[in-house]
Amino acid sequence: MLQQVNGHSLGSDAEGRASLKGDLREFLGGEIPLHQLDDLTKVNPVTLETVLRCLQARYTEDIFYTNAGCTLVALNPFKHVPQLYAPELMQEYHAAPQPQKLKPHIFTVGEQTYRNVKSLIEPVNQSIVVSGESGAGKTWTSRCLMKFYAVVAASPTSCENHKIAERIEQRILNSNPVMEAFGNACTLRNSNSSRFGKFIQLQLNRAQQMTGAAVQTYLLEKTRVACQASSERNFHIFYQICKGATEDERLQWHLPEGTAFSWLPNPESSLEEDCFEVTREAMLHLGIDTPTQNNIFKVLAGLLHLGNVHFVDSEDEALPCQVMDDTKVSVRTSALLLQLPEKMLLESMQIRTIKAGRQQQVFQKPCSRAECDTRRDCLAKLIYARLFDWLVSVINSSICADSKSWTAFIGLLDVYGFESFPKNSLEQLCINYANEKLQQHFVAHYLRAQQEEYEVEGLEWSFVNYQDNQTCLDLLEGSPISICSLINEECRLNRPSSAAQLQTRIESTLAGRPCLGHNKLSREPSFVVVHFAGPVRYHTAGLVEKNKDPVPPELTELLQQSQDPLLTMLFPANPEEKTQEELSGQSRAPALTVVSKFKASLEQLLQVLHNTTPHYIRCIKPNSQSQPQSFLQEEVLNQLEACGLVETIHISAAGFPIRVSHQNFMERYKLLRRLRPRTSSGLGGLEPAKESSAPLGTGPFCGCLSSLVSSICFGGLCLQRGTRQL
Ligand code: ADP
Ligand code: MG
Repeated sequence: MLQQVNGHSLGSDAEGRASLKGDLREFLGGEIPLHQLDDLTKVNPVTLETVLRCLQARYTEDIFYTNAGCTLVALNPFKHVPQLYAPELMQEYHAAPQPQKLKPHIFTVGEQTYRNVKSLIEPVNQSIVVSGESGAGKTWTSRCLMKFYAVVAASPTSCENHKIAERIEQRILNSNPVMEAFGNACTLRNSNSSRFGKFIQLQLNRAQQMTGAAVQTYLLEKTRVACQASSERNFHIFYQICKGATEDERLQWHLPEGTAFSWLPNPESSLEEDCFEVTREAMLHLGIDTPTQNNIFKVLAGLLHLGNVHFVDSEDEALPCQVMDDTKVSVRTSALLLQLPEKMLLESMQIRTIKAGRQQQVFQKPCSRAECDTRRDCLAKLIYARLFDWLVSVINSSICADSKSWTAFIGLLDVYGFESFPKNSLEQLCINYANEKLQQHFVAHYLRAQQEEYEVEGLEWSFVNYQDNQTCLDLLEGSPISICSLINEECRLNRPSSAAQLQTRIESTLAGRPCLGHNKLSREPSFVVVHFAGPVRYHTAGLVEKNKDPVPPELTELLQQSQDPLLTMLFPANPEEKTQEELSGQSRAPALTVVSKFKASLEQLLQVLHNTTPHYIRCIKPNSQSQPQSFLQEEVLNQLEACGLVETIHISAAGFPIRVSHQNFMERYKLLRRLRPRTSSGLGGLEPAKESSAPLGTGPFCGCLSSLVSSICFGGLCLQRGTRQL
């Protein structure tokens, strides 16, 4: 039997090779069997169907990676394939004179970026954008790439920090289990789904050794702390504590075995990710000592008890809602664990304080049952989000190198892919907006820039008609009026507006914009945006409130009263600067909305990406049941369409994949100045050039390549003209 993993022959044999299934013996790639086509630019013609068939043929042969020109397509194996990620294989790619000649792999991308850092290809900083829908393998891929760099860019000495001497790369790897324990959860699509976006910058010194890293996170789904969809779970860490605490800890954290928690659904399902020990160990390595850890877990237990507090309607409207009798004990336990005065904790949920008039007179108003629930949930979200941010900052201080000890970085971006559910809200709007921005970055980088540069360089070129998504971005974020600005405006005006009013406002103000879809067949108030990946209907109910993300000032004031050391640090009594949450609680102060904060962080990210050489990995999920050996054409097709893969292949097939500035090219290959190719289309046959031969072009980019060579490989750098013209 032929045993192949990603094209790496692991066992025998010639006999297996001969027994290829008949239906795979298709020759869309000419003389090459379909599954052997390493690059989708070589299928002919490039259509959704041929690309799909090629990927399926490869998947059937356990070949999970395929080049698509400038992008690498990664199919999720949904099974452990240890050989595919073995350190020996990492070394093989690292040592290869031309890694791009080996089988397609994330290590090719890893090695390419690593070499680019040193080479003269500009800019020096590199980034790898890993995209794909939930469960497609983005986080797995990023983790494997981090391991790859930990091997190939290992630092020479161990370093002393937090009393633990160890290599920095180990510490960087340790950030993964901690961030995943606190930021990942089991969803319908992925049992270890990241509920935040992540950009990690791996910092390298001049000797190309990893000296540190910095993590930036985006949009943690904090609502999950207090609200989980059916069949989904809360963040892993809560289950880890409940399952992994020792007898002693159970006593301290008031977690007797078998306690039912409203915010801990599906505790019986047991996951690999539920391992408390792994998280604790990793935290220790990052410098979070055992007492601090215990403090964190005690606060989390306090949140679980808070979730068990339920209210009943009050008979008299003038009186606040009361706590259900059998959950009174939960208020007490929660107050104890969070070290808050019990009465204050309860009142912060039951009574609203309103400041009004010139003198800012204080009025108190009892909250309805629904309001009490909202305030309880808000308290939990507030604590959890601050805790998560604090953890990220601790991780950063533990792994970040000082600015003098690194000169370049490789950025790994693991963000949520395009989302379209039966019901979409602000979260999906932000996520899809981010994907539009990334798509624009991709298009700009590989297409517009490419075509414009060729034009400037005077290269012969048949121009591709590319789909620019600027019109969609104008609709989402453009000035002066866009969907984001209208939603923000509603928040700013702070007026009661119904979901239907918001729909009307958006549809009438933005009528005629090309990417505002027709809103037919909708019973609930909504609007439709035609994204590059397809139309999405967003429901307007609750959108403005979510965008405001209000935090009642009483809640922050309450937390500032806590005697707990961790909460005291997270909620200082006299913060030098009031945080956004605190500001947003005060009606007069200008508050940043969720959308504006997200937009700002996205712009920052794009600025960083813009100054790097980007590389793209598109992860594809072959089936939604997470089953190995199952390739569902319809599902894959949807993903291929959503990421515009066929277009990408056309672009890549038509372009020069490598562009080097003339000066750098000359510097690197000056030795070859005396040589010139025998023919303009020859494959690397070089002969001495006469001194008077034409100079290598003068523009910023090496346009000379078209007249000089069609395909030459110099010392590992392939200067190759694509073979396909559109
Ligand atoms: P995403 O981050 O895109 O939501 P993940 O990276 O968490 O998806 O992958 C989902 C699951 O798929 C993982 O938990 C793992 O079980 C499986 N998986 C993904 N990539 C691989 C791979 N290369 N090899 C084996 N299993 C994988
Ligand atoms: Mg993930």
